[in-house]
Amino acid sequence: MAIESSRAAFERTRNSLAGGVSSGLRASMRPTPLFVDRAHGAHVWDLDGDRYVDYVMAWGPLVHGHSHPHVLESVQRVMADMQVVGMGHPLEYRAAEAVLESVPGAQRLVWANTGTEAVQVALRFARAATGRNRVVKFAKAYHGWHDSVYASVGDDDTAETPVGGSRGQSPNAYADLIVGRFNDIDAATALLERAEERDIAAVLIDPIMSNAGVTDPAPGFLETLRTLCDEHGVVLIFDEVITGFRIARGGAAERFGVTPDLSVFGKAIAGGFTQSAVVGRADILDLVTDGVMHAGTFNGNPVALAAVTASMELCAAPEVYSILEDRSALFEAEVGAVLSDAGSVGDLRRVGSLLQFVPHGRGTSLHGTGGTWSEIAGAMLESGVVFMPSGKIFLSTAHTAEDIRLTAERFGEALRRLPAAT
Ligand SMILES: *Cc1c(COP(=O)(O)O)cnc(C)c1O
Repeated sequence: MAIESSRAAFERTRNSLAGGVSSGLRASMRPTPLFVDRAHGAHVWDLDGDRYVDYVMAWGPLVHGHSHPHVLESVQRVMADMQVVGMGHPLEYRAAEAVLESVPGAQRLVWANTGTEAVQVALRFARAATGRNRVVKFAKAYHGWHDSVYASVGDDDTAETPVGGSRGQSPNAYADLIVGRFNDIDAATALLERAEERDIAAVLIDPIMSNAGVTDPAPGFLETLRTLCDEHGVVLIFDEVITGFRIARGGAAERFGVTPDLSVFGKAIAGGFTQSAVVGRADILDLVTDGVMHAGTFNGNPVALAAVTASMELCAAPEVYSILEDRSALFEAEVGAVLSDAGSVGDLRRVGSLLQFVPHGRGTSLHGTGGTWSEIAGAMLESGVVFMPSGKIFLSTAHTAEDIRLTAERFGEALRRLPAAT
């Protein structure tokens, strides 16, 4: 793979598009952000026409692969009639009913466009429902780029006091956050036992730390949060923007058997189109008719909801999650074997169809793991496999055993070329 056309496109793009990428995190792709001409199933083709096995999967949405015909047909059908109307239309309730059917304990939802937005409105509902202000988030967890939650996302930001993640953020915006430690049951207990006094409205948690090491919740951790939130009148919010419709049809709530009060879905909910939702208890979400403001011109637009409906139909097929599990287990076995043969490079973590490479002796980070992984990802790109800079690996039902075996083979070659691993 020459990647030359992508290098040239990146140079050109920077003269019009600030930074040369449309989402800040994409700039960390090494050796260069890849420019795609065409994407289908588990593959993308670059501007030179070279084909790559894709483990980026658009950073999460494509559980069924690129351009799934069922999603595209549904979208094309509605597009012949309307694009956006700003009024009611039947897909609003059909898609909502389909989502509620998939998610354990879900009674109502509100539509939004992105995960970032949906997290914001979920926090607003939680504050309205409790009359309290503060929110517990966990160190390193990512909940979108908004000022109020983009804090303590760095490797070292583990203190209870939040640390802003970007220049230009007002410290007032995240002053209501309290930073907890994931899987620390004692610390969570100590914090939530004083929830009334500390003015805690919500606990916001990504149940597997999807963007910071992909970790199963410790036995009893989510259950303890559930019990303490009930005892102290705190709203438990699962950020299922990555886990939703990926680690089980009903996301983390189904996989771990713990039902939150609210959950936030994005990414995979619309099979590659832009849509998000806050889903959960009717008594909380019905506050939208009792003073909680929620709006958005493109909320519940017909095109995206046609995609949601199709994507929910795909997720309801009984074989989907066993296919995802088989392929992901094969990836873990084949690529994991290559990794352990190479000695002490790193570990592969997996929860369902989300994996992450974690280098030995280093943490993972949102932007990029750097070091060894950068070199590996760079070498893999040159041999026709695209990995995320953070070491995360997204599988889809479109990845075949052949794709995975090819990946393992190339991975072995890349590791042998790596000076650090020999
Ligand atoms: C991607 C992500 C978000 C933000 O969603 P956007 O659609 O990118 O705004 C929130 N939470 C988690 C866990 C995510 O991975």
